[in-house]
Amino acid sequence: MNYIDEFRDIKKVKYFAERIKEVNPDKNINLMEVCGGHTITILKYGIQELLPGNINLISGPGCPVCVTAVDFIDMAIELSHRRDVIVATFGDLIRVPGTNSSLELERAKGANIKICYSPAEALKYATKNPEKEVVFLGIGFETTAPSVAVTILNAYSNKVRNFSVLSSHKVMPPAMKFLLDSGEVNIDGFICPGHVSAITGPRIYEFIAKDYGVPCVVSGFEPMDLIETIYMLVLQIREGRAKVENQYKRTVRREGNSKAQEVMSEVFEPVSVRWRGIAEIPESGLKIRKKYSDFDAVEKFDLKFKRGMENPSCICGEILKGVKTPLECRLFKKVCSPENPVGACMVSSEGACAIYYKYGAR
Ligand code: SF4
Repeated sequence: MNYIDEFRDIKKVKYFAERIKEVNPDKNINLMEVCGGHTITILKYGIQELLPGNINLISGPGCPVCVTAVDFIDMAIELSHRRDVIVATFGDLIRVPGTNSSLELERAKGANIKICYSPAEALKYATKNPEKEVVFLGIGFETTAPSVAVTILNAYSNKVRNFSVLSSHKVMPPAMKFLLDSGEVNIDGFICPGHVSAITGPRIYEFIAKDYGVPCVVSGFEPMDLIETIYMLVLQIREGRAKVENQYKRTVRREGNSKAQEVMSEVFEPVSVRWRGIAEIPESGLKIRKKYSDFDAVEKFDLKFKRGMENPSCICGEILKGVKTPLECRLFKKVCSPENPVGACMVSSEGACAIYYKYGAR
């Protein structure tokens, strides 16, 4: 048996499904999986079907492409029209609709947009093309922000003048707090994102357990991880406990990755940022610090964000808040598909609509 098989062993998964039934309290329980990677596993392996009917898994706002604001896409499109600028971006992002267009459509019309697989690749491209300004679109959570921070530090120490980042990085805990405070969705437990937690450590969720009495368990991404995480959450709920526990110990250490945390806080500072379809959430974004402002595209090009408009028929915001599912969108599979995405949740492989489209309903 190889390492992966062990975490997909149906006998072990069924063992935990039985244990869940044993400890299951007699009440409805909503567990939010914050991360799109967890949503994939839940639908791909039919985890919901293994659970008693009173336990409901709901998707959260943890897809980085989905939560990137329409204003940001509009700004990136505007930049891509400047003669001396090349916009460098991850592939998924180019298909996300802005107010009137997408980066993909603008590229087809001749705009300067280059797909990169890492910020380091964008920096390398800048050093090879000194006559151009290369602007990297920095999106993602605590998972990707450190690599962007390292790239900015490299650009700073090597005095690269023609590289900058348009940052829309976000951090997860303020969004979780926002959902709890909004009262729009009843959350009895959080399945916490494993990749974010590998950087931060599980302690970032302690306020949720302490102040809101909501248990949190950091989970890995295999079926065995998810079912064990759900068992750990249901057990806490049954026993009236609210603690932060770590199911994903093989990857997530208590203190997280301190080197990654250091570079992040060296380069970025917290700022309010708009989450697509949700709201502007205080202290949930990462702005490039003044010391590195030469590498901040907003400062360098004196950019002003203008309020963009999403398609009013798209309910991505409700889906990202866990209030609705993709099946409740009247455009799902009719007008909106991965080939013709109307909203961001249909673009990324971690978007709830794209996952439902691929694997079917829960
Ligand atoms: S199915 Fe399409 S239009 Fe509907 S919420 Fe999802 S992305 Fe938006």
